[in-house]
Amino acid sequence: MPCLVTKFGGTSVADVDHINRAASRIKEEVERGNDVIAIVSAMAGQTNELVDLVTRTSQFYDAREYDTVASAGEVVTSGLMALMLQGMNVPARSWLGWQVPVRTNSAHGAARIDAIETRNLRDRFDTGMKVAVVAGFQGISPEGRVTTLGRGGSDTSAVAFAVAFDAIRCDIYSDVDGIYTADPRIVGKARKLDRISYEEMLELASLGAKVLQTRSVELAMRYKVPIRVLSSFGEDSAAAEGTIVCDEEGIMERNVVNGIACSRDEAKLTIVSVADRPGIAAIVFGSLAEAGVNVDMIVQNISEEGRTDITFSCPTDQVTTAETALSEVRDRGELNYRALLTDREVAKVSVVGIGMRSYAGVAGRMFSALAREGVNIKVIATSEIKISVLVDRKYMELAVRSLHDAFELEAAA
Ligand code: ADP
Ligand code: ASP
Ligand code: MG
Repeated sequence: MPCLVTKFGGTSVADVDHINRAASRIKEEVERGNDVIAIVSAMAGQTNELVDLVTRTSQFYDAREYDTVASAGEVVTSGLMALMLQGMNVPARSWLGWQVPVRTNSAHGAARIDAIETRNLRDRFDTGMKVAVVAGFQGISPEGRVTTLGRGGSDTSAVAFAVAFDAIRCDIYSDVDGIYTADPRIVGKARKLDRISYEEMLELASLGAKVLQTRSVELAMRYKVPIRVLSSFGEDSAAAEGTIVCDEEGIMERNVVNGIACSRDEAKLTIVSVADRPGIAAIVFGSLAEAGVNVDMIVQNISEEGRTDITFSCPTDQVTTAETALSEVRDRGELNYRALLTDREVAKVSVVGIGMRSYAGVAGRMFSALAREGVNIKVIATSEIKISVLVDRKYMELAVRSLHDAFELEAAA
């Protein structure tokens, strides 16, 4: 039997009515002759509530217990979805991560999938099960404890199952009917893309477009699994086209810039007046890495009289950790600096497009558009297919909209 993976995000299983609607989608696929692996997220808002309970209970929590609690939302929806399908006369069974099992490493809170065993599910498909409803976002560590895959991790569960079971398709149902040129909640006139390359989607996801978890796109790209993103609110899944995330070769239309992404919770830190000599950057970023700070952009200014400033950005919730790590190396006498300046009110705005590889002038056009709106650029970073800037958070949405206009993303290529 052909095997299909379908994933339903939180808004698609937000209550019993939504679960009913999602179950109808799954039933349609069974009636088309497919075995279905349905990956479910927690009901909308549930994981946030569970995480909030953990942080209110324990400030410096044990990550293994965080995972026990955070994984609970998906436990509920997998059981409810199986019940709903059974009520529609579809032979369905729920599967938690440990029952499959989905084997992960021990990095609690952000575990990586090492392997998915297929035998248990295959045996059950062979003996009449038509739908395996799998709790997304969770697995089991080598020590036998429940792990979670990082926020948004059900997307990664879906792609990993599609790889393991050699699925004919991986459909990701969400509250949007595809991937847009920018977050449609920010840019009302954003345009839905028919197709987008893995590389561009990877950049958009890692730069803040949470529609797909970054690691799900990495995995899909590595194993060449096409992903289809579509809405669970439309009428018929066969008629809906959504957006296909696939290889660059499968895409005819090309724009220089294909999307704008933004990320709200960024902070900028400047270490004022450090010695400009070999080894200083290694001490700074070595200590930050050891403390687990995810440093993103880095800028070093020109030096004056042998001293320089180093600026870097990191997520807002890691600022205190970064400050502590840097003051510790200073206290140990390994690093000497005059001050540490922190700006927690910044956001990152990025333009992404594979066409940038062969076109000049994208940076100029981007910076002029921001200048016209009076938006000051605080830090700039570029790679082959993206340009990112840090701006004051209060200007983030204005910046996204003005860049969407400047690159004429509303119009098709
Ligand atoms: P789910 O609960 O289904 O996993 P998410 O909330 O994680 O859904 O992701 C969907 C959301 O991603 C959309 O509601 C939209 O606001 C946001 N989003 C951000 N950037 C984009 C984009 N470029 N295209 C589509 N949606 C986007
Ligand atoms: N429920 C988890 C989260 O909210 C996983 C997911 O929805 O993908 O992060
Ligand atoms: Mg999501």
